[in-house]
Amino acid sequence: QTKGTMTASQHPQITVLAGPTAVGKGTVSTYIRENYPEVWLSVSATTRAPRPGEQDGVHYYFIAREEFDRLVQADQMLEWAVVHGKNCYGTIRDKVLEAAAAGRHVLLEIDLQGARQVKKTLPDAKFVFLAPPSWEELVRRLVGRGTESAEEQQRRLETAKLELAAEPEFDVTIVNDDVKRAADELVSHMGLAPRDV
Ligand code: 5GP
Repeated sequence: QTKGTMTASQHPQITVLAGPTAVGKGTVSTYIRENYPEVWLSVSATTRAPRPGEQDGVHYYFIAREEFDRLVQADQMLEWAVVHGKNCYGTIRDKVLEAAAAGRHVLLEIDLQGARQVKKTLPDAKFVFLAPPSWEELVRRLVGRGTESAEEQQRRLETAKLELAAEPEFDVTIVNDDVKRAADELVSHMGLAPRDV
């Protein structure tokens, strides 16, 4: 064992959840946050502004770009990415490794670029792809949430096509046909018993 490195085989309970834009990763993680306190859900750092109802330290660490760059420079990020060409998002390495070393069931909900970086540093983590029931349903969800302009929606759909092609890189695929069902399947892959709710 090289000094200072922790391999995921020492804590195989690190699970990475990724998937295309609008598939519902956020909804599944919110469900897990609210129903599975035994899951240690990683809180990412981001440069984007909080949305109504989002709390600093709960949903994200909302930080300035300068602070984000400082963390990257100091090699504090397990992974990080610019998502949708706009804001920076990253996982603070020590927090994740400490939780895993303490025996917690760690879950990272990140984008595909981030998942690929984690695969390089923690190849033994479990990589879970959240897939839409169909392409039509993904389009419906992206358009239906109405948070993006028509132009932005088009751009995200193009990205989603490329993202869907990444599925074979993952250990497991979960179809997000129903949030509770998908979340229960996810926790069962994490070695936890699904809750009877
Ligand atoms: P939102 O701004 O809607 O909360 O998240 C936008 C995207 O950023 C989602 O695809 C989400 O998975 C991704 N994301 C959130 N946190 C991280 C992170 O720490 N690293 C990476 N690479 N992506 C993240």
